[in-house]
Amino acid sequence: MEKKYVAPPYRIKMVEPIKMTTKAERIQKLKDAGYNPFTLKSEDVYIDLLSDSGSGAMSQHQWAALMLGDEAYAGSKSFYHLEKVVKAITGYKYVIPAHQGRGAEKVMLPQLVTREGMYYISNTHFDTTRAHVEIAGARAIDVVIDECYDTENYYPFKGNFDLEKLEKEIKEKGPENIAGIIMTVTNNSAGGQPVSMENLRKTSEIAKKYNIKTIIDGARYAENAYFVKEREKGYENKSVREIARELFDLADVFLMSSKKDGLVNIGGLIAIKADVDLYQKCQTYIVPMEGFPTYGGLAGRDMEALAVGLEEALDEDYLRHRIDQARYLGDRLRDAGIPIQYPVGGHAVFVDCKKICPQIPYHQFPAQAVCNEVYIESGVRAVEVGSFLLGRDPDTKENLESPLEFMRLTIPRRTYTYAHLDVVANAVIEVYKRRDTLVGLDFEYEPPVLRHFTARLKPIK
Ligand SMILES: *Cc1c(COP(=O)(O)O)cnc(C)c1O
Repeated sequence: MEKKYVAPPYRIKMVEPIKMTTKAERIQKLKDAGYNPFTLKSEDVYIDLLSDSGSGAMSQHQWAALMLGDEAYAGSKSFYHLEKVVKAITGYKYVIPAHQGRGAEKVMLPQLVTREGMYYISNTHFDTTRAHVEIAGARAIDVVIDECYDTENYYPFKGNFDLEKLEKEIKEKGPENIAGIIMTVTNNSAGGQPVSMENLRKTSEIAKKYNIKTIIDGARYAENAYFVKEREKGYENKSVREIARELFDLADVFLMSSKKDGLVNIGGLIAIKADVDLYQKCQTYIVPMEGFPTYGGLAGRDMEALAVGLEEALDEDYLRHRIDQARYLGDRLRDAGIPIQYPVGGHAVFVDCKKICPQIPYHQFPAQAVCNEVYIESGVRAVEVGSFLLGRDPDTKENLESPLEFMRLTIPRRTYTYAHLDVVANAVIEVYKRRDTLVGLDFEYEPPVLRHFTARLKPIK
């Protein structure tokens, strides 16, 4: 196991002060926040690993680009700049901006749901993607490989589709009832795990065989391409950009939360390879939903920053350091004996809390309990990715049991140093030592959808 981590390929020009609180303060803040770190004020957080979404640092080139924003309601120059960059990266014909990933999902996903009883199939649906599938009246089926659930053993592409399960679901449900196949790269909910090109190629072949459309949910497509270059035979000498292009060639539609590999604080994209009918439907639908198709909920300056960020995210020096930061934090925890999803994915370390707190059943949210304790320990904010996030079955309303109960330590792009990651590692190690004392949580308030964002909880005494 190589244990070298590259230093950042940038230096710091501007700083944002953060402050440490006392443990007594944090105990009170967490209680006020209903034991849900999502509802904490960010000023009460020392190191914020809630999400890597829109929380990264822009470069000097992006800040400079903001000044070039053309704020015209229609036909903005900034749109045409963004369009040119997206077309060059993807090879797709049509580009529509959206305010973020879920905006793109909201506009595009319903277009393929043409009648009742339809399904989307994905390696793993991201939570907002699943929500938009359900809002569109369809159901979401996940068919990720079993290796994904075996957190401790190395497998290079734990985000892969289980191709047998995929084909079985298509046959069982009937190909005409499959609205689309969603390739989530990297596989966020499975631990930011990459998907191999071979697996994506075969998925695409299956889709073609049954005449089903393929959609890349590619928030972290550049990170995925970097992993492919590192781990997949035959890709060592290809550039990340070439690998990404090969990925885009396999699908029909690209949906993106640009708050990830777009390196911006807000933004999303819909890109369509060639289907003019689908493009026109999205173009029509986006007007009342997000905005006119040449801005889609973004300011002209946002589109300029995104056009630059998309290029920077394909820079291999940037990607190497990005992936190394996650690997560093993962190695520190593993060295301390803490069970994590291994190997570490691209944007986060996923700590296996089912193993840490076997005394807490899934419907009392073991990973949420660990997240809360880590905040109390050190002011580090992490996020639960498990049964709390998964929610309830839309038909039976029962709490669903997630096969994995993760605490996600998500690393914002170009934002924290290795020293910050040491603070995080030390906090998790301290909590791990007192893991037997942790208790489960119960609802005080539970919203009907996407409950993890606003729910209020209380510890079970
Ligand atoms: C973040 C994300 C989304 C949703 O994007 P938002 O910008 O947060 O709305 C969808 N899919 C994946 C895989 C994501 O990581």
